[in-house]
Amino acid sequence: MRREEIADLLFSVPWEDLQARAAAVTVREKGSHVFVRGLIEFSNICHRNCRYCGLRAPNVRLGRYAMSRDEILSAAREAVACGADTIVLQSGEYAVQPQWLAEVIVAIRQELHVPVTLSVGEQPAAACALWKEAGAERYLLKHETADPALYAALHPGHTLSERVAQLRLLHQLGYETGSGFMIGVPGQNPESLVDDILLARELHVEMCGAGPFIPQADTPLGDEAGGTAEMTLRVMAVLRLALPWANIPATTALATLDPAQGQVRGLRAGGNVLMPSFTPSQYRQEYRIYDNKNRVSLELARTAIEAAGRTHALQVAV
Ligand code: SF4
Repeated sequence: MRREEIADLLFSVPWEDLQARAAAVTVREKGSHVFVRGLIEFSNICHRNCRYCGLRAPNVRLGRYAMSRDEILSAAREAVACGADTIVLQSGEYAVQPQWLAEVIVAIRQELHVPVTLSVGEQPAAACALWKEAGAERYLLKHETADPALYAALHPGHTLSERVAQLRLLHQLGYETGSGFMIGVPGQNPESLVDDILLARELHVEMCGAGPFIPQADTPLGDEAGGTAEMTLRVMAVLRLALPWANIPATTALATLDPAQGQVRGLRAGGNVLMPSFTPSQYRQEYRIYDNKNRVSLELARTAIEAAGRTHALQVAV
């Protein structure tokens, strides 16, 4: 798919046509089944300084937490009992003890027999290799924006090329890799969304999420306008056409912008993954990447999948 074609789809093709094409490719490539990943946000500690994120290290208004191994296992049991097909272990980026996380992965794999996905930021190669050996199969690391200057401005002290190198390393280690990017972050030229899609294609990621930027009050971008659901849905639909093999989540950020219909609209726009949260309620409030974060509950996930006319393997909540 050429740059001009992606730009035309993103900015010119009527929405009804684009949505219909994306829906047809979703069914052809992925069937009607929606994968449900059980998300456990096990720590909000982070040593980075991303200008858009409420978990950034300088944010002293956030109460920091790190779940214990037993708390994680208990949440994972609940997720699997409810029908989640994968456990996603997510945290801020910090010096998580490699051996500790490896033992958590082994425990989940041995007891619950489901794939484990990691989303723990840029980590040393040796740690990533250890976790792969422990049984983690997938790793999510969003590239956030394919505009190198904007990436550097949003992530003080870090570069897009480091990010891409880490994604390539994860692929070399044998992980199924996932990336993603923001829609409408301040300073973003809409044209650069074409580069985001081209980069995801070039990296041949197995999963790619497109989420709207939503401001968080305690960050330098707290007073800025957010991205829109409409543009996010357009990007999702083009991702489905450009990366037909990929799993595409209807993100929590989309559900936050449009609590009633965001997930359904996302599934109709090429999405085939939902990620309900199984983070214990006492911690959920503190995982404040952005404000008013909607909780994609099991019930919301089930309702959205059924409203979109798709299938799932979810059980009644335990
Ligand atoms: S985006 Fe990720 S790495 Fe950046 S501050 Fe937030 S949690 Fe930390």
